[in-house]
Amino acid sequence: MIPSAFEYVAPASLAEATAFLAAHPDDAKLLAGGHSLVPLMKLRLAAPKYLVDLARVPGLKGIREANGALEIGALTTHYEVESSSLVRERLPVLAETAALIGDVQVRNRGTIGGSLAHADPAADYPAPILALEAEISVTGSKGQRTIKATDFFVDLLTTALKPDEVITQVRIPIPAAGSGAAYVKFPHPASRYAIVGVAALVRLNADGSCASAAIGVTGAGSKAVRASAAEQGLVGSRLDDAAIQKAGAAAAEAIEPVGDIHASAEYRRHLVREFTMRALRAAAERAKK
Ligand SMILES: Cc1cc2nc3c(=O)[nH]c(=O)nc-3n(C[C@H](O)[C@H](O)[C@H](O)COP(=O)(O)OP(=O)(O)OC[C@H]3O[C@@H](n4cnc5c(N)ncnc54)[C@H](O)[C@@H]3O)c2cc1C
Repeated sequence: MIPSAFEYVAPASLAEATAFLAAHPDDAKLLAGGHSLVPLMKLRLAAPKYLVDLARVPGLKGIREANGALEIGALTTHYEVESSSLVRERLPVLAETAALIGDVQVRNRGTIGGSLAHADPAADYPAPILALEAEISVTGSKGQRTIKATDFFVDLLTTALKPDEVITQVRIPIPAAGSGAAYVKFPHPASRYAIVGVAALVRLNADGSCASAAIGVTGAGSKAVRASAAEQGLVGSRLDDAAIQKAGAAAAEAIEPVGDIHASAEYRRHLVREFTMRALRAAAERAKK
């Protein structure tokens, strides 16, 4: 359990970090909380020549409200998201998601930027990040850009990030009045990673019918996805039991589940159906308040 030898680099600015990454596109890895990368290095599934620690780069931490959204710095830890009064008040589903990640040690070190960049198919954040239509701000050696959550997760452990790009912040719109959101998961009993996790966001019209719905599913396949067919079927419905059961079935049918030692593909499909229904019921209850 000892990683290959590497050189430790600690840039003092974002420009320094991105320049180093651009000069070593195949050999350098960013280090944030280290709770995904370091285990991989210990198993020698990753062997970067340079470890580029983001800890001294200013401006990558913190949570603020701006222009109808919360902006969360990439180095903000899961614990900081979980315990932030701003997140709890404006985006409670995100604080609840953060609180379900791993254990106290993991939440104290792991960061939102590191979790998204790692794109573990069983990570929790991708589900609400997709459902809430977040945008991921990144800076590379040639400038900045913003990536929509729906374009960010490409495949297993693969994102739209270029080798010289650093996630700087995640911008998550605060849902409109009349909305409710919830995240529920079936956790692995030891690691707490999501065997399947589902986030749902619904907005109700004044007459109680569903104006819009967004569903993010993690854990089931090689990457987190939106359950678009299920979402479309809900719009205009009363979000009653029949509509919610139909949405659960549509989400389960559309998913491409993987089977592994933790759960068969068929069991994951079953969990997607069940947890989509649970997330929708909880989100609908909150939207009514
Ligand atoms: C025992 C255990 C249990 C866990 N349980 C869960 C769980 O239940 N749910 C869950 O979601 N996660 C879980 N995790 C993972 C945890 O949430 C990690 O903290 C997270 O996935 C990675 O964040 P990090 O800051 O530690 O990133 P690191 O490990 O430092 O980096 C991960 C990857 O992201 C890249 N990276 C880091 N920051 C940036 C950035 N700003 N820009 C671009 N690239 C970047 C790194 O180069 C690396 O490739 C668990 C981890 C452990 C060890």
